[in-house]
Amino acid sequence: MLAGPTAVGKGTVAAAVRERHPDVWISVSATTRKPRPGEVDGVHYHFVDDAEFDRLVAEGELLEWAVVHKAARYGTPRGPVVASLAAGRPSMLEIDLQGARQVRRTMPEALFVFLKPPSWDELVRRLVGRGTETEEERERRLATARDELAAESEFDRTVVNHEVHEAADELVALMMLG
Ligand code: 5GP
Repeated sequence: MLAGPTAVGKGTVAAAVRERHPDVWISVSATTRKPRPGEVDGVHYHFVDDAEFDRLVAEGELLEWAVVHKAARYGTPRGPVVASLAAGRPSMLEIDLQGARQVRRTMPEALFVFLKPPSWDELVRRLVGRGTETEEERERRLATARDELAAESEFDRTVVNHEVHEAADELVALMMLG
């Protein structure tokens, strides 16, 4: 399980894991957020509307879910995770801190890895550099990131995201060690 503050590069590290370690299965979350340019439904996320997300919650189809940045709902479909684990595949979730806390309760045997930015300034630089959010949205994400950074001690391991390929390899090595 990979979690960490917003804009630390969780998505980028997950993409590097997908590319470099195709043996690792990575969960595709459902979200009510609108796709960003280049994002593909079913690959990066399952993009769903509020009614469909309500249904997933009501029918217990999500392993965990959370409202992230007070903006949209994100959740992990349960079925594919269960199937991947049953098949004995190394399996990874890339989720926010609230989701990680829920999974901690239901799957305490999972390995919880915290992805950390090299520094706070670097985190701010990445968040601003992404340029896909409005000023208000950015402020909200920075506030979330500040709270999330304080949660590192809740995790089993920390990986510092100096360089994305190294972080991806380190993460997979930790998963294999268990
Ligand atoms: P973004 O909108 O930038 O793709 O993702 C925003 C945040 O949502 C990231 O911190 C990401 O880790 C988190 N996130 C993505 N999928 C899930 C999920 O299934 N559950 C939870 N709890 N958080 C998620």
